[in-house]
Amino acid sequence: MNPFPSCSPNLEPWLTHTVRIAEITREIENVATYHLEFQDQAVAESFAFRAGQFNMLYLPGVGESAISISSDPAQRGTLDHTVRIAGNVTGELARLDAGATFGLRGPFGSAWPIDECRGQDVIIVTGGIGLAPLRPAIYELLNRRAEFGNLTLLYGARDPAGLLYTNQYDTWRSRGLEVATTVDRASAGWSGNVGVVPQLLDRMKLDNPAQTRVLCCGPEVMMWYTARAALGRGVPGNQIYVSLERNMNCAIGLCGHCQFGPTFVCKDGPVVKYDQVADFLRVEGF
Ligand SMILES: Cc1cc2nc3c(=O)[nH]c(=O)nc-3n(C[C@H](O)[C@H](O)[C@H](O)COP(=O)(O)OP(=O)(O)OC[C@H]3O[C@@H](n4cnc5c(N)ncnc54)[C@H](O)[C@@H]3O)c2cc1C
Repeated sequence: MNPFPSCSPNLEPWLTHTVRIAEITREIENVATYHLEFQDQAVAESFAFRAGQFNMLYLPGVGESAISISSDPAQRGTLDHTVRIAGNVTGELARLDAGATFGLRGPFGSAWPIDECRGQDVIIVTGGIGLAPLRPAIYELLNRRAEFGNLTLLYGARDPAGLLYTNQYDTWRSRGLEVATTVDRASAGWSGNVGVVPQLLDRMKLDNPAQTRVLCCGPEVMMWYTARAALGRGVPGNQIYVSLERNMNCAIGLCGHCQFGPTFVCKDGPVVKYDQVADFLRVEGF
């Protein structure tokens, strides 16, 4: 029996693989996407992940950080991670150039419920860097476009300069995803929506709430308000999914660092049904 059910069946959870930075895309201030290649060909060929999963990135002498995979699960060759500078590991990563190597173990955690979305309308609600863990889900939904009803992305940032992946929206629209953006504060030249992202959900026309799935990632307070808005529009709580974030250490449910109420974010999450965590989302200290 696999002692770490949240990991891929053939995954050795402690084994760190060497990856090389093939390219770096500077996204927005303090955020870059690292396009990584495994040094070991056998690992490159066997590595697979599901949309929503994360890896532990290991910078020798500094430490490890949990970072979601932001590329297309169907794409082989490179593996993307979109990283915001937060502290030690991400700060060190930001000092590296293309060609540098470091360690990676994973993939870990639960995934967005793409199969469950078949025949349903899907609303992706996200804020700031929360779009990174959802980008693999967007790729997969668009790769399998015919299987789903309406697909909508509602995306918010503090200001227009904080919106990620803006050069992809037109492609996503042309493939069947409605994209609506909003900012907390407009700047010169912005003629779009102003306000927090759950307001977009409040204003949206929902054809069939009982046949709708909501996938949400962002600050906890934003996920809480989004869930309230979705529930208010008739979407059942067990059809709303959120991606949790906690300070993580082992990534396999042994150390307890990422405990969130009765769940461990690393092995029970990061993607969980809103119903499962509703009581803890707005509790100070969780
Ligand atoms: C499942 C998961 C997926 C993630 N995906 C991404 C991603 O795609 N891109 C990205 O940029 N970041 C992501 N993060 C957040 C990232 O792991 C943290 O920002 C990271 O720990 C920073 O590491 P560091 O060594 O640079 O900072 P540290 O030096 O460890 O920490 C900087 C400060 O932030 C605090 N902190 C660390 N981690 C967290 C956390 N998870 N929540 C709240 N406070 C924290 C520390 O206590 C410290 O005060 C994810 C986290 C999780 C759990």
